[in-house]
Amino acid sequence: MATQSNIEWTEMTWNPVTGCTKVSQGCKHCYAERMARRLNAMGVERYRNGFTVTLHADLVDLPRTWGKSRKVFVNSMSDLFHYDVPLDFIQRIFHTMEACPQHTFQVLTKRSGRLAEVASYLPWPRNVWMGVSVENADVIHRVHDLARVPAGVRFLSCEPLIGPLDSLPLVGIHWVIVGGESGPKARPMADEWVESIFTQCRRARVRFFFKQWGGVRKDLTGRKLHGRTYDEMPSLAAVA
Ligand code: SF4
Repeated sequence: MATQSNIEWTEMTWNPVTGCTKVSQGCKHCYAERMARRLNAMGVERYRNGFTVTLHADLVDLPRTWGKSRKVFVNSMSDLFHYDVPLDFIQRIFHTMEACPQHTFQVLTKRSGRLAEVASYLPWPRNVWMGVSVENADVIHRVHDLARVPAGVRFLSCEPLIGPLDSLPLVGIHWVIVGGESGPKARPMADEWVESIFTQCRRARVRFFFKQWGGVRKDLTGRKLHGRTYDEMPSLAAVA
């Protein structure tokens, strides 16, 4: 279960775990939940448990079979640091990533507390980029948890951005992604919230990626800011 991705900051997804539970406001309209329920209704075997956390041991080694270098979003359909995912399973996934230096793996979590708890039991090769979601100021503590993790690249995904983030602690952060919520019942994102994060990133020399304005019709709102796109990515040379 690895598929090409339409997400602007990656190339493909790899889902050795599926299913999750909601932890914060950013989860309210979870895309993974909607998709899992749809696939379950269609009778797709991988989603026989719907959105319940499910381990797919047969997919753990899949990236070892890909020769060509790829940028891979790990667990787009779950949260790798969910408490129902045993540490030894997380370790197996990290060992696969370590064994595949030809690929770049992007891991994103909202369970930053567990990430910080288990980080010292995991290998941190330079091809693993570790990120936390920060949708509003209520969850800013996730950035502090991330800062304790010895990943080569640490990043924030401020999507869906549903509140202002005027004091982001960007020391030790290399990359910030910003995006508005999209789809049915999308919550609005204010221009000034985006401008504030952009300014903080410029001051801290942190790479900035503007994913989308979002809205019910994201194709109409687009992804331009200041009349241009911002598709900045972390530079491993600069981080080193
Ligand atoms: S943590 Fe991510 S996958 Fe899990 S419910 Fe929240 S948005 Fe969905």
